[in-house]
Amino acid sequence: MEGRALSEQAPQEKPVLEPKRGLAEEIKAEHGEDVYRCYQCLKCSAGCPMTFAMDYPPSQIMRMVQLGLEDELLASKTIWVCLTCNTCSIRCPNDIDIALVIDSLRERVFQKGSKPAVENVALFHKYFLDNVRKRGRTFEGELLARYQLKTGQAFQNAGLGLRMFLKGRLGILPESVSNKKAFREIYRRVEERGGKK
Ligand code: SF4
Ligand code: SF4
Repeated sequence: MEGRALSEQAPQEKPVLEPKRGLAEEIKAEHGEDVYRCYQCLKCSAGCPMTFAMDYPPSQIMRMVQLGLEDELLASKTIWVCLTCNTCSIRCPNDIDIALVIDSLRERVFQKGSKPAVENVALFHKYFLDNVRKRGRTFEGELLARYQLKTGQAFQNAGLGLRMFLKGRLGILPESVSNKKAFREIYRRVEERGGKK
């Protein structure tokens, strides 16, 4: 009796996730990377040294881009803890530059004015680009001082800074590239194309 009652019920409809192709197509147009070549072999995730700190491993990021889950991607920690070490890109059998796709997602966070999921990393990213813009090279002393003062960690890495200085890895004076004008032109063109200000 009870079994018949159940069989008479309409089957429960599973929610269907409709892929939105816009995000993948924009990434392909801007960076030449076709995420639809990904067939989820997981080699990228198996080699990534940062999955322990990520909310989605790189293979899952690729699937999310295929599905057009832009809100979830821009809110993810993964795009900020990725080191851009390129291990995933080198391992991919389909030649997808996964690190570049992740970098493009970081830039989208700035372009859309969204809040980065890991704010300190986003801040470091911004200060790093500001720093390089001035002279065409990083001046680590200024970069670290600015970052650490802003994040309230002024003395946290003082010992490390001193050791780097003693080993000649931290200069006192900034150095510049010889052709600063040409370098600034690179920044100008990136900004013209919608890159980070
Ligand atoms: S580039 Fe990023 S996602 Fe790729 S292996 Fe390195 S840390 Fe992982
Ligand atoms: S290695 Fe390439 S094909 Fe394999 S899951 Fe990662 S992105 Fe996809």
